[in-house]
Amino acid sequence: MSSEGSLPAYYEIPPGGAIPEPGSSLKYKTGSWRVLRPVINQDKCVRCRLCWVYCPDAAILELDEEYVTSKGRRYKITYKVNYDYCKGCGVCARECPVNAIEMVPEPIGGEE
Ligand code: SF4
Ligand code: SF4
Repeated sequence: MSSEGSLPAYYEIPPGGAIPEPGSSLKYKTGSWRVLRPVINQDKCVRCRLCWVYCPDAAILELDEEYVTSKGRRYKITYKVNYDYCKGCGVCARECPVNAIEMVPEPIGGEE
């Protein structure tokens, strides 16, 4: 500590704007910033992958989960939103070519 008491000395302050270790962003779950959340309609989704490509936060997950639509179409993959990191920007909903993603108000208090 510095001679000023509780204030740290300059060399004790972590460098600003620097990422001291790789992958550290995983620790910061930024989904709590969201006011709108994307909800994927799995029946409408045609598995084009555009939401996965465009999401600026890599918050769209491409999962090896089979899904059969109400009309009987079978898909081998499923796209889901990782709400731990999704910030609700709406890019995925904007880019989805079949309007399979709806932005809905975030439930008060988080997950429902
Ligand atoms: S709302 Fe934004 S951050 Fe969330 S999944 Fe869609 S593109 Fe990614
Ligand atoms: S952009 Fe729309 S149709 Fe394409 S994978 Fe995402 S949700 Fe499905």
